[in-house]
Amino acid sequence: AKVYNIGNWGADLFSINKKGNVCVHPTPNSKYSIDLKVLVDDLIKRKIKPPILLRFMNILEGRIASISRVFKNAIHENNYPAKYQTFYPIKVNQQRQVVEAIANFGKKHGLGLEVGSKPELVAAISMSAGNKLPIICNGYKDTEFIETVLYATRVGYDITIVVEKLFELERIIEVSKRTGIIPKLGIRVKLSSKGIGKWSTSGGEDAKFGLRISEIMAAIESLKQNGLVDCVKLLHFHVGSQITKIDKIKNALIEGARIYVEMRRLGVNLEYLDIGGGLGVDYDGSKSSYFSSVNYSLEEYANDVIYQVKNICDEAGVPCPNIISESGRATVAHYSVLVTNVLNNNTQTLMPDFEHILADNAKLSPTVRKLVDIYKSIDRHSLREDYHDTIQLIQESVSLFNLGYLNMNERAHAEWVYSKIIRKINSIVEKLKPIPDELQNFQLSLRQTYFTNFSLFQSIPDSWAIDQLFPIVPIQRLDEKPDVLTSIADITCDSDGEITSFVGENGRTKALPLHKIDVGEDYYIGFFLIGAYQEILGDMHNLFGDTNAVHITFNKKTNYKIDTVITGDATWESLKYVQYDASEILKRVRNNLETDVSLQKVSIEESSHFLELLDRTLQSYTYFGE
Ligand code: PLP
Repeated sequence: AKVYNIGNWGADLFSINKKGNVCVHPTPNSKYSIDLKVLVDDLIKRKIKPPILLRFMNILEGRIASISRVFKNAIHENNYPAKYQTFYPIKVNQQRQVVEAIANFGKKHGLGLEVGSKPELVAAISMSAGNKLPIICNGYKDTEFIETVLYATRVGYDITIVVEKLFELERIIEVSKRTGIIPKLGIRVKLSSKGIGKWSTSGGEDAKFGLRISEIMAAIESLKQNGLVDCVKLLHFHVGSQITKIDKIKNALIEGARIYVEMRRLGVNLEYLDIGGGLGVDYDGSKSSYFSSVNYSLEEYANDVIYQVKNICDEAGVPCPNIISESGRATVAHYSVLVTNVLNNNTQTLMPDFEHILADNAKLSPTVRKLVDIYKSIDRHSLREDYHDTIQLIQESVSLFNLGYLNMNERAHAEWVYSKIIRKINSIVEKLKPIPDELQNFQLSLRQTYFTNFSLFQSIPDSWAIDQLFPIVPIQRLDEKPDVLTSIADITCDSDGEITSFVGENGRTKALPLHKIDVGEDYYIGFFLIGAYQEILGDMHNLFGDTNAVHITFNKKTNYKIDTVITGDATWESLKYVQYDASEILKRVRNNLETDVSLQKVSIEESSHFLELLDRTLQSYTYFGE
């Protein structure tokens, strides 16, 4: 199981039990666990079909508690004279049931919600209604947005509206004057410090959002003139998601804290410093990769935030602000796992067996004969030379076929011996340490495609869009050596729907070792750390819809409890997104068939059986069934 590196990316939430199944722990290193394979078997018995998105609510609660706890400890250790508050940016996953759970868990930690659009604002207001959660509004805002926020403030909501652009400030001043409502304001600054990795352009001079220093000066002036400067309570910056190096975070903190101090000196009574998101997730456990891992822990992050801000405020003799962070990815990445079945692709029994050509090579074409000779003689001393010759001969077989000198049967022979040679080389190479560089890549020619019941575009779109790594692990048979090197192909009709980069023992690898699947065996793989952004960024390529989702909590008596089942899209629902109506479809097809039936082209029985099948397809899950 070391090949999947679980110990390094799993945050002590995932392990392997004696049965060789993956287990999920409700809290890091807990002695309690849920066996994923048992859980999935039980769900299938309940007719909940894969792909199934499993949401482990204890993990979600635990992550919120951990982030609050590390800040509490850092505040205590540094004698920090103010508070910390976490705001969940709902863009990371806006699903009602998820936000509802976060709002409920978060209440005791003083959690708030961060929104970036009108629909998100409405969602947050509805979630905040009973819980009285504070809300921060980032993103561009039109007059309707601003007016809604101001009236929400008037009727008792705690909403801070963050100015991203100067033109927004003009609108806010205008609406405030017109309605007589005093807003609670924040200002987002465009830091010159940048993050690192895929999202580094969220920071720096050319960032999309925020005010430059000169614009902040203008904003303060304008607010003073309009008597609203005392409404500015919060300074915000965000230098990008998944910041992988702690020094980038420190630089941003120092610059942000300096701006806070200077704004206080200019007479702005700021109370909060909102350091945005960016707290990274270790997706591959390497602690070193460019954007899949992070070189710091939660504790180090919190300590640095508190220490740097205190240092700068103390030096300037300015009161320390309350700290807010908007950590999305780090809050939700761990809690969901997508489990699905590999479609049984054991086609070995269908493959022709050319074993006889090894014994009798007299009638073989010269190219195939040379390949057979290599296969028979290859050993660790001739490895490199034989490998080069094999590559050349297989290319030669294609050229000869194209020129008409090799027939289909002979080309199949060449292909067959080639794969035998590659397997033989692999068995020799596996024993060599270190493996010669040029032989490392050859293993790719051994890679088999495992077709898997999911859509990459729906469930892990970042894997396609930005080559993001997500750990993929079989949930069973981990007490057996996985001896097939695979790539994972989804069921969309798109060649891009294939994963060829994986988390391996020593960082990124180009093949995922999985087990040979027996005929009739149900073999499941899990996609881990997919809780952040994936669900909402996912799209409906080929009309594969939302997957089934199940909320699970750990239970000491029954091991687990199913809290919520959210049924994935049926075919009719996917079609509805693109404006088809199920009953219209059936009506149209029935009318057409009636004409054919009346002309006796089609029998009544066949026509009604087809309509029945069509109706059943409309009602069924968009993914593969039996
Ligand atoms: N806050 C703002 C303003 C953002 O734009 C984002 C996302 O990029 C976040 C918070 C969440 O960032 P993360 O998921 O890295 O914590």
